[in-house]
Amino acid sequence: MTGLRSFDAIDVGDGTSVLLDRSCGTCPSCRGGATLWCSRPAGGGRTLTSPVPTASVTALREAVLAAAALLEAPRGGTVVVVGEDGSPQVVMARRVVADVVLAAPLLADQSVRAQVAAREPSGRAPVIVAGADVRAAVRAVRRGGHVCVPAPSSGSGSIQPSVTELVQREVTLVAPRRVTDVLDRMTRDAWAATVAAA
Ligand SMILES: [Zn+2]
Repeated sequence: MTGLRSFDAIDVGDGTSVLLDRSCGTCPSCRGGATLWCSRPAGGGRTLTSPVPTASVTALREAVLAAAALLEAPRGGTVVVVGEDGSPQVVMARRVVADVVLAAPLLADQSVRAQVAAREPSGRAPVIVAGADVRAAVRAVRRGGHVCVPAPSSGSGSIQPSVTELVQREVTLVAPRRVTDVLDRMTRDAWAATVAAA
């Protein structure tokens, strides 16, 4: 797990793990509410979830980060989440925001583009939750829109936009700040649905 070390997982036996918050609560990042960017992750950590299958932990962690990034973007427009319909990040996004959330395995997908065009005057989504190809999301989003980037850019396979592309299209990149806002919005049923999708 690269970056965002304060949001961790630990094996609790029987093939299950729990997600942990190791943020210290006192460093400048934590005091500013960006606990994901804690500069001094603590040893023990607070358990955030009930035990989930260890095989699903990475997918669930990524889904929570995607939802946390989505919560930092403005509300009120169509949201496109890069991922298969029924994938954990799509299931979770639909539970944490009231906006229409469309799943797009590929941003170039014609049926997704048609659905967005039917809803948005500009023909483009104002908010996209990017996958590894952040550049594709920057190119697909509405001018002046927001692209949510769940994971740090250091991940292998990630494709980043140039500064020029961001400036020309007036696109804002949004990073997750904390996971507690996401988990607070998850009812028991919503979390169970997300775990089942992972
Ligand atoms: Zn901290």
